[in-house]
Amino acid sequence: MFLLGIVVLTLAGYAALCMLRPYIPCAKCTGRPAAPCRACRGHRVRLRAGHRILNGSRRAHDHITR
Ligand SMILES: [Zn+2]
Repeated sequence: MFLLGIVVLTLAGYAALCMLRPYIPCAKCTGRPAAPCRACRGHRVRLRAGHRILNGSRRAHDHITR
């Protein structure tokens, strides 16, 4: 069950990371000046994939949709 502990710790750390820093720099826009792409719509940052999962489970989307 050592492996299970590592998986749980990794998931917990990722969840914490998603809460602390929900936005990550867009990988498609790096190095390109003002080139709007579909991934981030020109904002240069985009939400983590895990943050959506977190929102669905915690129902705490009011701080984003304000
Ligand atoms: Zn982009």
